[in-house]
Amino acid sequence: MSLTRNTDNTPMKTAEIHLENGQLPDHPSVGSTYQVADQFTIPQTGPVFDETLAALGIELKHAQPNELQINLGKLCNLACHHCHVDAGPKRTEIMTWATMQKILRWAKQANIQKVDLTGGAPEMNPHFRDFCHALLNMGVQITSRCNITVLYEQGQEDLAQWYADNKIRLVCSLPCYTEDNVDAQRGKGVFDKSIAGLQLLNSLGYGHDDALSLNLVYNPGGAFLPPPQSSLEQDYRNMLRDNFNITFSNLLAITNIPINRFAHALQRDGEINDYQDLLVSNFNASTIDQLMCRHLINLDWEGRVFDCDFNQMLDIPMSGQQTRYLWDIEIDGVAGQPIATNRHCFGCTAGAGSSCGGVLSD
Ligand code: SF4
Ligand code: SF4
Repeated sequence: MSLTRNTDNTPMKTAEIHLENGQLPDHPSVGSTYQVADQFTIPQTGPVFDETLAALGIELKHAQPNELQINLGKLCNLACHHCHVDAGPKRTEIMTWATMQKILRWAKQANIQKVDLTGGAPEMNPHFRDFCHALLNMGVQITSRCNITVLYEQGQEDLAQWYADNKIRLVCSLPCYTEDNVDAQRGKGVFDKSIAGLQLLNSLGYGHDDALSLNLVYNPGGAFLPPPQSSLEQDYRNMLRDNFNITFSNLLAITNIPINRFAHALQRDGEINDYQDLLVSNFNASTIDQLMCRHLINLDWEGRVFDCDFNQMLDIPMSGQQTRYLWDIEIDGVAGQPIATNRHCFGCTAGAGSSCGGVLSD
């Protein structure tokens, strides 16, 4: 058993989990797990996440938050197979300027230092640039999750230069370095546009200049775990440099979480139970301290708060309590609050772990 630290700096118990016959014990009861509404899809079989933690003496609670992760809406120019947001060109849910202003006021008062902007394609929100300017004026460090192809959308012709001028950290999806795999997952023609977009960003200094951080995201093209992040990063570096003269800062390997669109695909292919078994049998307790839900507050397009983006998509309110907006909570009241879980959470603790920042343990 190893010890890490709780929010109050007391030791938190983590442990290697002991499998019986290679399997975690099955728990028929649901405990304090948050029940997901019928319209959402998650795995229905196998061990329960919070009971698995309880068996190890672990309570999953928020640490002091250091970041807001803000979903600016579900509108996107793509409709990828693995998308946990179910985003696409026909979605109309989008954050208003009035909501952004409330968030800005709260973030200033709470002295928020980092913001992670996501969607959908966050750039397709008409207030995206004004919101970023307001955050930058407050000294907030911005990460934007850019699908790269949005650089070629009508009205976004100057987006790459705008990003570079404002030194915004970019996290860009590129689930493989081959055309077939990318187009199969994200749509025909996406690979070519992604390569052209990365070359454009490189030409503006992204991936070369320390102030212009260009990070790529890999996620598996099916029902399997990511390979080790460091060796995969080297493969990406070699392939993208040799074939396209592209350079980047870091590769983030992210596990597909079995909810909504990806879970539907697994169900359709009869793979959902096997995939959940894979996640459970690779449970790694050493990832828990760094789970993203412990360190950030997630917001939806209306400003409602959640423990993470996956819980947002399953309509599981922050800490499993009643629906609240950011401006209903105090930042000092977050640390120590419980985190609402269900079986999809095994996706974050499998293998080396997974978060919006890549793996959680080596
Ligand atoms: S680009 Fe991102 S947000 Fe848009 S559909 Fe694909 S995965 Fe979803
Ligand atoms: S899905 Fe992952 S990040 Fe979200 S609450 Fe579960 S363990 Fe935490």
